[in-house]
Amino acid sequence: MTERLKVVLATGNEDKVREIRQILCDAPIDLVSLKEFPDVTPAEEDGRTFEENALKKAMSVWQQTGLASLADDSGLEVDALGGKPGVKSARFAGEGASYEENNRKLLENLRSTPEEKRKAAFVCVAALVTPKGKMIIQRGEVKGRIIDESRGEGGFGYDPIFYLPRQKKTMAELGEEEKNKISHRAQAFNAIRDFILALCARDKL
Ligand code: IMP
Repeated sequence: MTERLKVVLATGNEDKVREIRQILCDAPIDLVSLKEFPDVTPAEEDGRTFEENALKKAMSVWQQTGLASLADDSGLEVDALGGKPGVKSARFAGEGASYEENNRKLLENLRSTPEEKRKAAFVCVAALVTPKGKMIIQRGEVKGRIIDESRGEGGFGYDPIFYLPRQKKTMAELGEEEKNKISHRAQAFNAIRDFILALCARDKL
């Protein structure tokens, strides 16, 4: 029989928590919020890659709680900006910047770049540390381009200016369910779910 695993979700970003919970709603795990561990000190996000940061966040919570921990580090990479804002996506316009401020700064940086040259990708790296300290890292990526006009009310962050040519919509124009089928986060966390299922079945957690 498949056992249920208690997993601490090592992120304070409520937008990410909402999406991850929906993506993993049928996984054999009980996702526990970081809010239930007020004494846990969050890891500093000073890594140079999404992988480094995601693993650092998950390891830190695992070390402090002894429980399985799941973290994500994600962001936007814009080709014309040499991959920026990348790991600095949340603070592109400065520490504590709002989503709107980050979007405005991004569009200012792209003012002289024509739309056909505004290729971008959303990247998400999910890291799981199991109770025994086994580490699993999975990456998801979705390609699109940056448009000047904000469109749609869904999602969060850069979603209203991230255009998906295949869907002919911005990420913010997709419903939550549709975003969670195709997003970078869905790809990374669905792969994590498969690992959890395989490890549960072999009692290797
Ligand atoms: P993190 O907390 O360091 O992983 O920062 C993630 C940042 O990347 C967010 O604050 C957003 O600015 C951006 N980001 C990540 N995923 C998404 C997404 O699904 N939609 C829009 N923006 C995202």
